[in-house]
Amino acid sequence: EPVIGLEVHAQLLTQTKCFCGCATSFGDPPNTHTCPVCLGLPGALPVLNQEAARMAAAAALALRCTVHKRSIFARKNYFYPDLPKGYQISQYELPLATGGCLEIETADGPRKAGITRIHMEEDAGKNLHGIGDLSVVDLNRASTPLIEIVGEPDLRSAAHASEYLKRLRDVLMFIGINDGNLEQGSFRCDANVSVRKKGELKLGTRTELKNINSFRFVGEAIEIEIKRQIQMLERGERIRQQTRGYNADKKETYLLRDKENEADYRYFPDPDL
Ligand code: ADP
Ligand code: MG
Ligand code: ZN
Repeated sequence: EPVIGLEVHAQLLTQTKCFCGCATSFGDPPNTHTCPVCLGLPGALPVLNQEAARMAAAAALALRCTVHKRSIFARKNYFYPDLPKGYQISQYELPLATGGCLEIETADGPRKAGITRIHMEEDAGKNLHGIGDLSVVDLNRASTPLIEIVGEPDLRSAAHASEYLKRLRDVLMFIGINDGNLEQGSFRCDANVSVRKKGELKLGTRTELKNINSFRFVGEAIEIEIKRQIQMLERGERIRQQTRGYNADKKETYLLRDKENEADYRYFPDPDL
């Protein structure tokens, strides 16, 4: 039996970034919407965008979550060229909202999929590779406000997952906080997939399929990953917890990296917020 849980990153439709006054924009010349705060220059201090918090809370209410009176930001540390500060401002302990649900239509009637948590975070910039023999970084997108919507592992097929994504996108667009654009990356999904024997209660080891940018490919990638895992188990092999990508031409998922664990991120409360 397949078990699927989705993580969705949705860009909030604010005029300005999450912790500074720079415009959020798509398609402008690189590095024209930056300032000391979103460049992570020493001494610059973030201030939360009130409209971003309002939009995040609206999404949480639309998804029947409990919005907590107190939530805190955390620093998620990792090293990558598109992340100027060396950490992402996110939430870890005490997220904005928890415990919601989304109702979807399936072949066997309506089904409720749980929402574990919704937290606010900032987007990273964008690495562009193959400019001659260079890689360059555009930080216009750095610190654009996002919500991450973490779903419970309540979905049992690729069709369920596709339906969940469509419904979720509809809800976020309807309340006017997201433009639902998968191609431009303002609505992005990671799919966690495992399989187990029918009737078993314990979850199998999951793999995480990263950033698939179309509805068709999400469904396809999940189906192919389910088959790969079943074949491995039937050969007596163990599933390793991995982050995987999807190659739509070859119709196969491929290893990106072995999954980092939580301790690697050295989360701690952001003292500036
Ligand atoms: P991480 O950041 O490590 O991906 P999260 O808690 O943010 O952790 O997200 C975990 C996601 O994986 C959730 O959407 C959850 O439903 C899903 N998930 C967890 N365990 C399994 C599993 N065994 N099979 C499928 N999905 C799973
Ligand atoms: Mg994940
Ligand atoms: Zn800025």
